[in-house]
Amino acid sequence: MLHQIKKDKIGPQAEPMAKAVETCVHCGFCLPTCPTYATMGEEMDSPRGRIFLMKEVLEGKMKPEEIESYTDNCLGCLACVTSCPSGVEYGELISPYRAWAEPDRERSISSQIQRTILLNTLPYPNRFRTAAKIGRYVKPLTKLMPSFMKPMMDMTPASLPPQESLNEYYPAKSKRKGRVALVAGCAQQVLAPRINRAAINVLTRSGIDVLVPKDQGCCGALAMHIGASDEAKKSAQRNFSAFPKDVDAIISTAAGCGSGMKEYGLLFHGSEEQEEAESFADKVIDISVFLEDIGFEPSENCLGANKRVAYHDACHLAHAQGVRNPPRNLLKAIPNLTLLEPAEWELCCGSAGTYNIEHPDTAEELGKRKTANLLATEPDAIAMGNIGCMAQIERHLRDGKSDIPIYHTIELLDDVDS
Ligand code: SF4
Ligand code: SF4
Repeated sequence: MLHQIKKDKIGPQAEPMAKAVETCVHCGFCLPTCPTYATMGEEMDSPRGRIFLMKEVLEGKMKPEEIESYTDNCLGCLACVTSCPSGVEYGELISPYRAWAEPDRERSISSQIQRTILLNTLPYPNRFRTAAKIGRYVKPLTKLMPSFMKPMMDMTPASLPPQESLNEYYPAKSKRKGRVALVAGCAQQVLAPRINRAAINVLTRSGIDVLVPKDQGCCGALAMHIGASDEAKKSAQRNFSAFPKDVDAIISTAAGCGSGMKEYGLLFHGSEEQEEAESFADKVIDISVFLEDIGFEPSENCLGANKRVAYHDACHLAHAQGVRNPPRNLLKAIPNLTLLEPAEWELCCGSAGTYNIEHPDTAEELGKRKTANLLATEPDAIAMGNIGCMAQIERHLRDGKSDIPIYHTIELLDDVDS
């Protein structure tokens, strides 16, 4: 089959794409964990169905427009990678496929406007903050707007925390163990600056020098996952220059950013920058993994002490990065914390980058299902490691009149008096 997916027509990424296609043995083990198969019940909206459809297009047997509704419906959650016994790297098929198909695609005017708005606001904290503020004022006029604006208005936060600026350097506060660079995150800086504050507190208290490179920009994950590979490459190149090479690790506190940066090697596959991209990606590590590696022990004063905490697995942490145990182990080490496990842990909450804006109905169904599973554990608090999931789940909790607080895992590990 590899020879049928033509490298000269598809480009260097034909190789990882063909490998993913060839590895699939059509067993169907991935179907029950796929959120679109769970909600739509269609073979063509399952991982196995999509792999077949993309293969047919790449081999020239179908046209891209014949399958685009099925590839569009995919959340890119990668639950299918976790559940696949044959090791199919579905992410190495869907991301390059979208990037390959996008330039020739005819999009509706509303889709073009929506994507332009998203690509020009979300990756830029100042623009995003301004857009969120404007959104709050014009939200009452949503009914007068074109229908494609409604999901964006629905996601507008009711209030924004005060803007916080970050220093470029935070020295270790105990015997020095290492030096890292922190990914500040675009949406995270605007929606929840408290997460970076908690991360810096916990790291410096653990003897880690923290650099926050001032020239860093968006990780590019959002662009990558909607097929805008040129924009994603520009973001990655900016970060190659911005982040110092002599740090022990590049720490991410947002699963979406971390997994996006770990995909830099795939993004530049077959190009002159592949090696640089791969060595950058190798340094990227989720904060939970880093803290577990250095033997972090939470104190009795930490925010999570004495709480019943339900843990939500962000797809881009659990599935894309295979990180399930480190956050759990850290939470379990908190004095008197009871860790609660919701049903259907592997199902996406519906956030998935811009999915809840581009596919609001499916995202709504998944958001309600996830929230019900979390509430069924009767928690005092809900923890997770991704700002996108936090925004999505918080909206559904508040819509359901629940006031259960949502935290990033790192906040629960931070001392309340720090
Ligand atoms: S992706 Fe994996 S689990 Fe799904 S059908 Fe193919 S081989 Fe089976
Ligand atoms: S990435 Fe998620 S939505 Fe897409 S096929 Fe895999 S499990 Fe289904």
